[in-house]
Amino acid sequence: MNSILIRAAASLAIIGSPTAAMAKDSNDFNYVVDRFSDIQVLRYKVPGFEELPLNQKKLVYYLTEAALYGRDILWDQNNKYNLQMRSLLENIYKNYSGDKNDPQFKAFETYLKQVEFGNGIHHHYSMDKFTPAFSREFLAAQIAKLPADRKPADTDILTKLIFDPSFMAKKVNQAEGQDLILTSANNLYEGVTQPEVEAYFAAIKDTTDTTPVMYGLNTRVTKDAAGNIVEQQYKVGGLYSPAIEKIVEMLEKASSFAENDAQRAAIDKLIQYYRSGNLKDFDDYSILWTADTDSRVDFINGFIESYDDPLGMTGAWESIVNFKNLEASHRTEVISGNAQWFESNSPVDPRFRKDEVKGVTAKVITAAILAGDAYPATPIGINLPNSNWIRAAHGSKSVTIENITQAYDEAAHGNGFNEEFVDDPAVRQMLDKYLFITDNLHTDLHECLGHASGKLLPGVDPDALKAHGSTLEEARADLFALYYIADPKLVELGLIDNPDAYQPQYYQYLLNGLMTQLMRIEPGKDVEEAHMRNRKLISEWVLEKGAADNVVALEKKNGKTYVRINDYPALRNLFGQLLAEIQRIKSEGDYEAGAALVEKYGVKVDPELHREILDRYATLSIAPYKGFVNPVYTPVTDAAGNITDIKVSYSEDYLPQMFRYSDTYSTLGK
Ligand code: ZN
Repeated sequence: MNSILIRAAASLAIIGSPTAAMAKDSNDFNYVVDRFSDIQVLRYKVPGFEELPLNQKKLVYYLTEAALYGRDILWDQNNKYNLQMRSLLENIYKNYSGDKNDPQFKAFETYLKQVEFGNGIHHHYSMDKFTPAFSREFLAAQIAKLPADRKPADTDILTKLIFDPSFMAKKVNQAEGQDLILTSANNLYEGVTQPEVEAYFAAIKDTTDTTPVMYGLNTRVTKDAAGNIVEQQYKVGGLYSPAIEKIVEMLEKASSFAENDAQRAAIDKLIQYYRSGNLKDFDDYSILWTADTDSRVDFINGFIESYDDPLGMTGAWESIVNFKNLEASHRTEVISGNAQWFESNSPVDPRFRKDEVKGVTAKVITAAILAGDAYPATPIGINLPNSNWIRAAHGSKSVTIENITQAYDEAAHGNGFNEEFVDDPAVRQMLDKYLFITDNLHTDLHECLGHASGKLLPGVDPDALKAHGSTLEEARADLFALYYIADPKLVELGLIDNPDAYQPQYYQYLLNGLMTQLMRIEPGKDVEEAHMRNRKLISEWVLEKGAADNVVALEKKNGKTYVRINDYPALRNLFGQLLAEIQRIKSEGDYEAGAALVEKYGVKVDPELHREILDRYATLSIAPYKGFVNPVYTPVTDAAGNITDIKVSYSEDYLPQMFRYSDTYSTLGK
């Protein structure tokens, strides 16, 4: 797959703390902002912002402004009526003077919150249109009460959009056999069919080009008056010009506070691309951006991911502004710097070890603002650019956003998950204390060392494991992490302060692999996804192999199943044994053995246990989807109007933030 933004959605399972009743930390910071429908809205902290030098604060500030000015672009890309709809719903909400406990108003409020979350009338994840629980009569009565200048230009079409489920039903339709463009409700194509668009791009693409631009990335495809297919470019002077002009204005201000020439060159090239609309400029920008690795502050701003285009071409507008988390990045540097020690001491056959291993340094960042397609639902990691040839020739930047994962972790405190699935208070206490840090360490070991370790024997086809390749590769990386997270070396390197801290990581891993990840599988279905198969494979294998010595067990108590780990050192040995075997399979290209492992341990679900997990999970009312409000950045100026500081605050709530953005950053008002 080309695009590698890691999406944090229902797939993000985090164990919460049993001790905190509310999702507040010791400083009384309240992580949970709102809860409606299938959504929980959180807020995140930006630790370290206050300590940034003033010029970097200003740089961050202008980049956040550039981020917020793009908001309307995404709304309009998602559906051509979204901006009108947003105005209508917000106007009704603000104008409402009746009983706020009226069920009709309550239902309207939920619908408004859903639309704000979806950046339009469709669900951000399922792509389905939201279903209103208020009546046509309620809507009509509220529209009638609006002042004349607030009434929508076309009431009928907006009413139909809300109440007719078959009208523009799906933002992106991927159903095979249908015209995916005609049946998708987004606004990336207008008045053209799928065969017409495919023929158009087939004709203009140069298939011999080894450095191709990303065709269609920044255009809306339609027809001109003569009936010819044309691309309307998103650029200054083109489509979305008022928004892009403001983005450019803020990027110009940011450029004057760039930390160094490399960063300034990247920002200036992005400005050039927004002016020209030329995708070669975007490629040049991506190369400069990839090369800018020394700056503390970094950002994404542009038409990036193409999940929302059924043909996978047009980029949805998004922006994330961030700066390097020095402390956490030090952690990944220490791990990568010791990569050879880990490789040389691993439990795999020396013939399959790398003689010279270079760890990959993953940068850990702190997000300062989320915008466009990254807001309110947001990724927890980024790996860009998406252009294949640029990745091959110039590399890519891979980051994890630790203040976002921390907010997820904190917000899960007290959600009842641990109380339901972990019956041993001592284990719960260890989870509470060490799971966040060991989760981060697990990710670091998996990414920086696991995937980079081991080698194929000469002549072995890298694709020998075929369809099971990615499951076994993820298992190898996970096992590397599981084996080493219990190693005294981590204490010696100063990465952890307690030699037993790995135990909650082991517990959570098996709980997830044996039980709780099944909540994402529909009854009667097999486990399909590679990471899930990998976790199941590892967990079921150690359960079986450790059964004779009672290393791990599943135990029933009052009709509920619990994971018991009776011998942690023995469990570590089992992880080491399986790592050795999976590395052998990979190094020798032993397809038969790999397929047998995956099929025996990674695929089939015990229907009885599955039902039990789903029933227990259903009692918890944990929101399947989460997203964030942003902090607010306010410049402080002296008498002469010079910015002397930028203050960050976290007090803004969900709808007030949405309304403020609509007031301040509306550029394409309809
Ligand atoms: Zn991986």
